[in-house]
Amino acid sequence: MAQGHMIPMVDMARLLAERGARVTLITTPVNAARIRPIIDRVSRSNLPVAFEELPFPCAELGLPEGHENIDLITQHDGFRTFFDALRLLRGPLERYLRACSPRPSCIVADGCNGWTADVARRLRIPRFVFHGPSCFYSLCDYNMMRHGVYERVTDYSERFVVPEVPVRVEVNRAQAPGFFNSPGWETERDESIAAEDTADGVVVNTFAELERPFIECYEKALGKKVWTLGPLCLYNKDAEGMAARGNSAAVDHRRVVAWLDTREPGSVVYVSFGSLALSRQAQLVEIGAALAASQRPFIWVIKSAELVPEMGAWLRDEFEEATRERGLVVKGWSPQLTVLSHRAVGGFVTHCGWNSLLEAIAMGVPVLTWPRFADQFLNERLVVDVLGVGVSIGAKMPTSVLHEDSVALVKREEVERAVERLMDGGEEGEERRRRSKELGEKAKKAMEEGGSSYVNTAELIQSVMLGREGESKDIEDVKEKLVLL
Ligand code: UDP
Repeated sequence: MAQGHMIPMVDMARLLAERGARVTLITTPVNAARIRPIIDRVSRSNLPVAFEELPFPCAELGLPEGHENIDLITQHDGFRTFFDALRLLRGPLERYLRACSPRPSCIVADGCNGWTADVARRLRIPRFVFHGPSCFYSLCDYNMMRHGVYERVTDYSERFVVPEVPVRVEVNRAQAPGFFNSPGWETERDESIAAEDTADGVVVNTFAELERPFIECYEKALGKKVWTLGPLCLYNKDAEGMAARGNSAAVDHRRVVAWLDTREPGSVVYVSFGSLALSRQAQLVEIGAALAASQRPFIWVIKSAELVPEMGAWLRDEFEEATRERGLVVKGWSPQLTVLSHRAVGGFVTHCGWNSLLEAIAMGVPVLTWPRFADQFLNERLVVDVLGVGVSIGAKMPTSVLHEDSVALVKREEVERAVERLMDGGEEGEERRRRSKELGEKAKKAMEEGGSSYVNTAELIQSVMLGREGESKDIEDVKEKLVLL
């Protein structure tokens, strides 16, 4: 339960339903409340998606009431407790599934919910793992695990080449830590490895034309089908749908569009670091100073948790006053897809969360990569080195989710130079823009009728039918029930 996992799942639920499956999305009350506008739209549209809420056992483990999403955790030991609480959903999930009539045809469970494997096995329900990051990342992670790199390399600064990847990827463990690879997380790590090993397939938010060699290699390594169904963000076609993802936006999307309408095509820089990564105030001030100096129009997203009183005062008294003519500061949740899909946006300064990168790719927007943790450094390698649609700010060390005190400040001059490379960058920049546009077109084609992801979606639903009844059915007849969580 994190925005970067739930947002694509909610898109996937509606996409599968649109293509003929009956879908239930399982979540918890606080997370359901966040997507209430989507739930209401779904019920008005008669799309066969149900939303099932399982109470999250905060009290049982001493988590503050309502802390049902990773982005609500404010203390480091809170993550451990959060995952313990998540695993307590096993019983309620099993009871829910047993009570379903008919039994669901399959479960699509997030890669972080390895504990669902046991439930599915006991109920004999086919199960797919949904991986949030790119296949490039998942392949690197899988091969590092398979070849014992995580055990062998104990010095986090030692550089090594990731084994058996179609391109040369040299990293250190600081940049490629893997998920659940630290002491105290052995249960989650073992469960998620086992859940992938025993899954009936893997579902990924990507598309064949974007990373075919890595998809093929990953499929071969796993020995099972990898279903690429994305970019899932393209499910959202109208203005309301694009604006309502994850949370209610802190700013009216119509106001954002009106503001963007007054700007030249490709002129606006969009700066946002996803739903989790928090920046310290000193770094925010450097970013702000760079945006002020660059003279380019911008939209800058600052999270509510970053808006400590001094930051609010600096923004109000110094920054916004000086940049009012050409800048928009979103304080809180931004309607990101609305912004990225507008032709005025010419570059995206991003922390390299896979959803943000894929949204930029889908909208043909080049990126300035500033990875912070988890899969983000490897995602950066894909967009900068392989796809050629990104330019790196040069971050080398990961930060913690909750703060970035461990890394040196990136100074305003460096940020400004990097923004210039992104927005201009001479011939190299032209080439990045050309490639971004080309990939954006391929992304849209992948989701259109006959496109790779469109066909995969049909085949995934059909394969569930085959597995269940041992005979082929016309996809149009499929009225099966899938459970997503
Ligand atoms: N997002 C958004 N508004 C915000 C921040 C994030 O809509 O203000 C969305 C963004 O479009 C993406 C998701 O939240 O779909 C973030 O996922 P990502 O994988 O990029 O990063 P994470 O938040 O998991 O680090």
